[in-house]
Amino acid sequence: MTRVPPPIAMLAELTHRCPLACPYCSNPVELARQDRELSTETWISAFRQAAEIGVLQLHLSGGEPASRRDLTALVAAAREAGLYTNLITSGIGLSERRLAELDAAGLDHIQLSLQGTDAAMADQIGGYKGGFDRKMQVAAWIGAIGFPLTLNAVLHRRNLHQLPRAIDMAVEMGARRIEVATVQFHGWALKNRDALMPTRAQAAETTRIVAEARARLKGVLVIDYVPADYHGDYPKRCMGGWGTSGLNIAPDGQVLPCHAAQTIPHLRFENIRDTPLADIWYDSPAFNAYRGTDWMAEPCQSCERKTKDFGGCRCQAMAIVGDAAATDPTCIKSPHHGALQDRARAHSESADAALTYRTAPGKPIPAE
Ligand code: SF4
Ligand code: SF4
Repeated sequence: MTRVPPPIAMLAELTHRCPLACPYCSNPVELARQDRELSTETWISAFRQAAEIGVLQLHLSGGEPASRRDLTALVAAAREAGLYTNLITSGIGLSERRLAELDAAGLDHIQLSLQGTDAAMADQIGGYKGGFDRKMQVAAWIGAIGFPLTLNAVLHRRNLHQLPRAIDMAVEMGARRIEVATVQFHGWALKNRDALMPTRAQAAETTRIVAEARARLKGVLVIDYVPADYHGDYPKRCMGGWGTSGLNIAPDGQVLPCHAAQTIPHLRFENIRDTPLADIWYDSPAFNAYRGTDWMAEPCQSCERKTKDFGGCRCQAMAIVGDAAATDPTCIKSPHHGALQDRARAHSESADAALTYRTAPGKPIPAE
């Protein structure tokens, strides 16, 4: 058995509560209720344990992490544990005073999401009237304090035409980086494939715009790019490989190899309330299920790319093929690839389907 390296990054999903209701949300369809959320003390213990086993970067996410009243205390504790802290936020719920408090607590970096480049688009996608204007105000406060900023633009069929403006906005805001993330179909996004799937032409145009902007803005703005994998030839290296460099803690304390791992029904996930993080990372059956390459079947097992992409995304294989150990069907070598691309074309050409908005934790899940 190959030696398991320590994790480098941890995503702490502090809460599933969020004022927005984005149909592209990758949170699970069954959201954790507030009364199941970890306490401040348990989160702080988790951060200390993470630092002890080698984690360097802590991403504080949700839901909307600003929905937690103890956010500043959590940031301070994470910094005290020696972790680099990144707040992943929609900006809603952050006041100028709260940002100043987070700065004083040592917050290192902010990643601000962008649902659209104008109020009409952003408020429609976020399902929150006035959200865009509020976000622009928060962006100005972030700039005034001087937080290093990444803009995170999730793009899909309805807003892909706004990509050039999103890149300009990142430069205007003084962001160091923009993440151009074509929607990935997990959680609520999977319910919205008809409404959000980009066309093949849009996917190709996005790649062209990103290449042009990377050349033009070299030294000014770093552009990370997640292409539309349903229209691609090879899968992405999901989570850098299962149980290889990162882990997630869900709001209720379940420790996951990736944020969608709960969709793999035969895996049982340990909880940070009961089990030390080191034991979970190194020894739990869920983290060892798809580590390395031994678990792979053909065509991955004899493929020269197997240590590059580790067979793609296990959750995507589960969702589309019904087998988490299958080759990710976004791979051209998968026997399911042709059918996936046909389905992607059908989704992208379907008339504008209604959006299924994410609900609040504890609210009924909308019918199919
Ligand atoms: S994607 Fe939208 S709804 Fe989901 S957590 Fe982020 S801001 Fe909230
Ligand atoms: S066959 Fe498997 S390892 Fe090879 S490129 Fe496809 S997903 Fe990656």
